[in-house]
Amino acid sequence: MKHKNKVFDNVLDLIGQTPLIKLNKIASEFKGNFYAKVESFNPGHSSKDRIALYIIEQAEKKGILSPGDTIIETTSGNTGFSIAMVSIIKGYDCVLAVSSKSSADKIDMLKTMGAKVYVCPAHVSADDPRSYYQVAKRLHEEIKGSVYINQYFNELNIDAHYKSTGPEIWKQTEGKITHLVACSGTGGTISGTARYLKEQNPNVKVIGVDAFGSVIKKYHETREFDEKEIYPYRIEGLGKNLIPTATDFDVVDEFIKVTDEESAHTARLIAKSEGMFVGYTSGAAMQAIMQLGEQGEFKKDDNIVVIFPDHGSRYMSKVYSDKWMNEQGFFDSKNEAAAQNIQY
Ligand code: PMP
Repeated sequence: MKHKNKVFDNVLDLIGQTPLIKLNKIASEFKGNFYAKVESFNPGHSSKDRIALYIIEQAEKKGILSPGDTIIETTSGNTGFSIAMVSIIKGYDCVLAVSSKSSADKIDMLKTMGAKVYVCPAHVSADDPRSYYQVAKRLHEEIKGSVYINQYFNELNIDAHYKSTGPEIWKQTEGKITHLVACSGTGGTISGTARYLKEQNPNVKVIGVDAFGSVIKKYHETREFDEKEIYPYRIEGLGKNLIPTATDFDVVDEFIKVTDEESAHTARLIAKSEGMFVGYTSGAAMQAIMQLGEQGEFKKDDNIVVIFPDHGSRYMSKVYSDKWMNEQGFFDSKNEAAAQNIQY
């Protein structure tokens, strides 16, 4: 473990090298060995620490960023937190345009980390001047010497995972990984990780997780942008209403859609069964595994790696609030069955 018997210069030294942890109970009804890459072990508690540090350091290397400059980003929360954290250590101003879908906890956290936060309406199209993309673009134009991270359209987002998450998983599984299951938002995680893994072994099957209400799966299948696929959903950080260039659709074999409701219950089940307190999209990724398992996808000696992108503490007022679950109509008889005898 990177933590053992070591003193670190600052929190940034703890980014990456997250543990791969065996899932002992939650998927035990299926054949195969299941492992979670638990990204909440990053100091900013999500996989986004990797891209924040990597993209900022690349900008420094190119000489387009120096202390005192402003870093701007659009973010559902995690990337913003990571950029804010890196900005504190490296001496940058951090300005974030955030979707109104983000939890109040996340927005408060960003402010605590010194970021200036603009909350923008979630349910407007990407080219609407009120959307967080357009607000970030405008701020970038207005603030002199600012750098816009633009994670949805930045190839470095893919590179960050190609250089870190992919090699880590390959090493941790001793090259025996057969399946990668990962959520797709910007697509950086799945694209970079899968690109590296497929270079090592083209037979690694890569399954992307998408939300109902997002265009990603349909685009993967048809290479056409279908506006009819778009409608509001609750999971933050998963799926999209546009096609990000940070997604390499060629390295993904298949996308699976998951519902808000099942993902929420599965997130709770991960906590109850594995003792891992992870975020909503971790529930979504695990829910995709459940669907694949039920379809008989996995064989006895398969090694399935699922990426759990962030920590559960960011969802206390949502998935981990009984009140919120009730308000969404998520507590019903169907989900008692999904809870597989584990009561909550
Ligand atoms: N889960 C969460 C909680 C996220 O914030 C994100 C990023 N939007 C993802 C999953 C998806 O990761 P990526 O953007 O690398 O596709």
